Amino acid sequence: MRVRVAPSPTGDPHVGTAYQALVNLAFARSRGGVFVLRIEDTDRARSSLESEAAILDALRWLGLDWDEGPYRQSERLDLHRSEVDRLLAAGSAYRCFCTRERLDEMRRENRARQRFPGYDRRCRGLSSEESARRAAAGEEHVVRVAMPTEGECVMQDLLRGEIRREWELIDDQVILKADGYPTYHLACTVDDHAMGISHVIRGEEWINSLPKHLRLYQALGYEPPTFCHLPLLRNNDANRSKLSKRRNPTSITWFRDAGFLPQALLNFLGLIVSSRAEGEEKFSFDQLADGFRFEDISLGGPVFDLDKLRWLNARYLREDHDAAGLADLVREWSMGRERLAAIAALAQPRLETLGDWGRLTNFLFVDAPEVERAKLAVKGLEEAQVAEVLQFMLWTLEREQEFTADVIQGHFRRLSEALGLSLRDLTRPFYVAMSGQTASLPLFQSMEILGPDLVRARTRRAIDALGGISGKRTKKLQKRFEAVRAAS
Ligand code: GLU
Repeated sequence: MRVRVAPSPTGDPHVGTAYQALVNLAFARSRGGVFVLRIEDTDRARSSLESEAAILDALRWLGLDWDEGPYRQSERLDLHRSEVDRLLAAGSAYRCFCTRERLDEMRRENRARQRFPGYDRRCRGLSSEESARRAAAGEEHVVRVAMPTEGECVMQDLLRGEIRREWELIDDQVILKADGYPTYHLACTVDDHAMGISHVIRGEEWINSLPKHLRLYQALGYEPPTFCHLPLLRNNDANRSKLSKRRNPTSITWFRDAGFLPQALLNFLGLIVSSRAEGEEKFSFDQLADGFRFEDISLGGPVFDLDKLRWLNARYLREDHDAAGLADLVREWSMGRERLAAIAALAQPRLETLGDWGRLTNFLFVDAPEVERAKLAVKGLEEAQVAEVLQFMLWTLEREQEFTADVIQGHFRRLSEALGLSLRDLTRPFYVAMSGQTASLPLFQSMEILGPDLVRARTRRAIDALGGISGKRTKKLQKRFEAVRAAS
């Protein structure tokens, strides 16, 4: 029995990844199986080594250690390409030479005539001679899998049982991109087979892709594994929307930086996995693995309830540590030597006695400071405009991998110029968002010390304190943001 978790290194280490890793690992441990970690980095534009390193760190911090790997898909391209060649030779896949313009036009037509939104399969009719000749002449192309056009795809999911889909509604998916890199669908299928994965346990968002994967299994002559699609985590809001960083912290590093214990977060995710309603809610990973059963996973979208997590965390703090142990934990979390030295350097010019220390630096030792709405005001701007400015900076920082004071300062300078605001006006609401105060330790250095997750969470809280920004408004703003970015 072999299972895997296969995160894409395209952003923060997401709690959804931890949740999937936990289920896979618990299942593996309960059956003496092997847990593999695979990094799915074939999206060259979006993958980064920083993100990969953060994912590995986060999984280790949680104790979700892998038995094998990490494997990187980008190091396995030869295998992916030779499998694509095999599909081409067998006629199960074909080269597509359609240009972007043609595809755009086709999409418009599909919409206008309310036709099937996928590719219209024009290149599927090319003879293999013509296809080979054009490829040899260097004409740019992708490779698509040829899906069956009639009958039904019958799938089995461990939690849902049988699922049926009409083949004709499934697109001829691109499996090899023009840059010679495989898409997720191809790389994942080839690697799951090559790595001997017996159970593919992953997020529900992939269930619609299962027909494509099954077709690839069949065309490549592979025996398909057992599939299990886990329900997505949900926000604790009225419409139970999909967990998103807009509403909730979703980055595992945020939980660490905000002072949660890995055992508590793991336990909390375990509660989500297994809906054993009665009995003790505090349990260890080993206890979870011992009693692991797929039947306990409920399909109703599990809610990510931060209050519940805090409650559980409090129990760990009280029940698993004596006062001396707690003191060690606090020291380790808040006063790691390096972090403390950086804070001391900022505070030093502003201290008259050691007794000033607490007042000055307090905001660097809490998960979030209290923020008063009135303090966020900027003269000459309406509240909604302040919220938008905060949002602009949030988007800028979300893309920033190098989170140093200098880099952050550069962003503030550029944004203030682009928006025609003074640097002072731009930084003012950020002082409040970060520290709760209109004046405090130097802003950019403080942001560096807080780190990306806390900075973003605090910025989001300030936006909420100002009344938030509606979804519709966000769309419009995004357009303006892209324009401002392009111009600066
Ligand atoms: N790379 C995919 C993701 O991050 C993995 C999906 C899968 O497990 O098959 O969602």
